[in-house]
Amino acid sequence: MQSLVLAFALSATPVPANADIEQVLPRVIQWRRDFHQHPELGASEVRTAGVISEHLKGLGLEVKTGIAVTGVAAVIRGGRPGPRIALRADIDALPVTEETNLPFASKVRTTYRGQPVGVMHACGHDAHTAILMGVAELLVAQREQLAGEVLLIFQPAEEGPPEPGVPFGARLMIDEGLFADFKPEAVFGLHVWAGLPAGKVAYRSGPTMAIADEWVLKFKGAQTHGSRPWDGIDPLTVAAQMQLAMQNIVARQVDIVRSPVVLTTGAIRGGVRYNIIPEEVEMTGTLRSFDLDVRSDVIRRIEANAQHLAAASGASATFDISMTAPLTSNSNRELTERSGNTLRMTLGEESVVEMPLLTVAEDFSQYSTVAPTFFFFVGATNRETKPREAAPNHSPRFLLDEEALKIGLEAMHALALDRLQ
Ligand SMILES: [Zn+2]
Ligand SMILES: [Zn+2]
Repeated sequence: MQSLVLAFALSATPVPANADIEQVLPRVIQWRRDFHQHPELGASEVRTAGVISEHLKGLGLEVKTGIAVTGVAAVIRGGRPGPRIALRADIDALPVTEETNLPFASKVRTTYRGQPVGVMHACGHDAHTAILMGVAELLVAQREQLAGEVLLIFQPAEEGPPEPGVPFGARLMIDEGLFADFKPEAVFGLHVWAGLPAGKVAYRSGPTMAIADEWVLKFKGAQTHGSRPWDGIDPLTVAAQMQLAMQNIVARQVDIVRSPVVLTTGAIRGGVRYNIIPEEVEMTGTLRSFDLDVRSDVIRRIEANAQHLAAASGASATFDISMTAPLTSNSNRELTERSGNTLRMTLGEESVVEMPLLTVAEDFSQYSTVAPTFFFFVGATNRETKPREAAPNHSPRFLLDEEALKIGLEAMHALALDRLQ
């Protein structure tokens, strides 16, 4: 069955002429090194957007800039009518101080939410940007033979807004009308991934990356002297009970076979001095889940635990939670199978592996509110490095093997061609 599918797919989708990729690849490597050396935080990618839009204009494309502050988009129109698809790259860097010895390591420093920070492409979005610029060039060169249209999306601020609560990234691009005149039938995205060996790509069917929520819990007690706790209500003790109760929810109350859940507290803030019991304590953290029903159930349990624990001590509780990213899921079976076949055909059966479920999140998931999506991963770790010893994405020592650029270029190009021929 498999070989039949492959044989059919081979005749339906010629692999792009290698010469083209080999010509474009050195430029992709240069662009990526340049972006790496000049990283910019989300919604500040002014230089990056400038380099992208110069390149696209040079290809003769009509370029839209300033979408979601610094986003760039352009449409490649094929010589014949056909389907409309979109390819997305994210372009932002992180507030991380680079600790690699690369000759093009970032020395950039800036302020992030009031704090001085280094800036680094520690998630590999420099590679995503350069790959899509290369794919654009390949597709423009083949434009006359293409049936259909490709929307190129260079999206800012994937890692989050510059300030909490500000609209950002994919959602903001969509809300500002990215798809107003262009309704794609599929949106494709990739991510370079540490721990996955260079030369490999990976994807999975169905849920792939988690729903991410940010939550804030506040316990209000009654301030008193630390030597006389009975004169007040100690919210710190309630917070301590709550911290353990939350682990109890995950470990004892959720069907983890059905769908995994992670509940993490990232900060507990309360009090200023060793002998004063404070009035209020604030806890904040993240919930990761893969199923909306499970998510609602956990939220209900957090609220119930918070209310009851607070009440037992005479304190009061408030709980706020907001989703920062929906589920990233290859939920469209036809698109997933077809894309998987294209990847296997282009890169070889042994180069395509299944990705384990990831509890990190991606705002690429926002595009699935508009069209079916396919998201896959490109191995970023040198073949000689043991996967478990690779510094992960977001680490100051994150290293991208440049083979990932070639594989990403081939893969994304092939996925687009498959739809447009
Ligand atoms: Zn990231
Ligand atoms: Zn990322």
